[in-house]
Amino acid sequence: MKSYSPLTSASYLLGLVPPVVYHVGSLLVFTTGLSLGSILFVFLLYFIRAIAITSIYHRLITHKSYQASDLVKWIGSVVVASAGQMGPSWWKAHHLNHHQYTDRELDPHSPHTPFQGIRGFLWSHVGWLMSSQWFPTKLPSDVENDRVLKTIDRLHFLPFIILGAASYLLGGLEYLGAFFLSTTLLFHSTQTVNSLAHLFGDQPFATEDQSRNNSLVAFLTVGEGWHNLHHAFQSSSRHGITIRNSKVVYLPDPTFSFLKVLESLGLASKLRVPTEADLLACAKTPNLQALSSRLPAPEES
Ligand SMILES: [Zn+2]
Ligand SMILES: [Zn+2]
Repeated sequence: MKSYSPLTSASYLLGLVPPVVYHVGSLLVFTTGLSLGSILFVFLLYFIRAIAITSIYHRLITHKSYQASDLVKWIGSVVVASAGQMGPSWWKAHHLNHHQYTDRELDPHSPHTPFQGIRGFLWSHVGWLMSSQWFPTKLPSDVENDRVLKTIDRLHFLPFIILGAASYLLGGLEYLGAFFLSTTLLFHSTQTVNSLAHLFGDQPFATEDQSRNNSLVAFLTVGEGWHNLHHAFQSSSRHGITIRNSKVVYLPDPTFSFLKVLESLGLASKLRVPTEADLLACAKTPNLQALSSRLPAPEES
């Protein structure tokens, strides 16, 4: 059952408009062309907002894998909202459902249910956004109790409009097209976590789902593609971790590197990372070699 007002429903319904606008708007670049400056603009906007999605919406507001001030949450959420991927309440509500019911019937975007194969891929990538799943069942109370975050959530479309207008003022239709293109690429990279990272890749950790560590998705999403680790250790601020030859191996995770920078600036603290003992204990393959090395050697007769 939905637990929010008609005004909130209207705000969420409005959220279906930006994805249509930026997909269609991307076609502008075919008429304007892209200069070196506007190509850099595409990547700059992509990178900044990708880092914001992962570090603020996902690792901070949803999983509380580190601590930061309200100001960091608020400013970060405005940056994320400019990506046209909805506000913090909507986002967290869906993501918590995903973790609670991963790859089972109530998962809002699994590639394994209710469809499989190519239909499952399409459902998890975009189909679920065009279904009744769009409306979250229950909004997270902590975000709802923060009046600033709640306001950003309901007015999620404003930062998107403002960044689009700023892009136009900066470089006319060419930069507006670059903004739309960057936003479209970012939309699809976010969705690859829901689709590809539950289909392809390795599973170094024992989880009761189909989450995978996928290096392509990790590259596109500044570290979120190490998704099997994430499902195994949801409150870890570091996702780039695997197990090789019974040893813990750390993988490139630009979002975690960004969090370390925030920490050095005093803007983030208490970054949570599992111990190597916890990681090895959760390794999918029984870690007999490591275990036997820790046991006392048998006494010689
Ligand atoms: Zn997942
Ligand atoms: Zn998560």
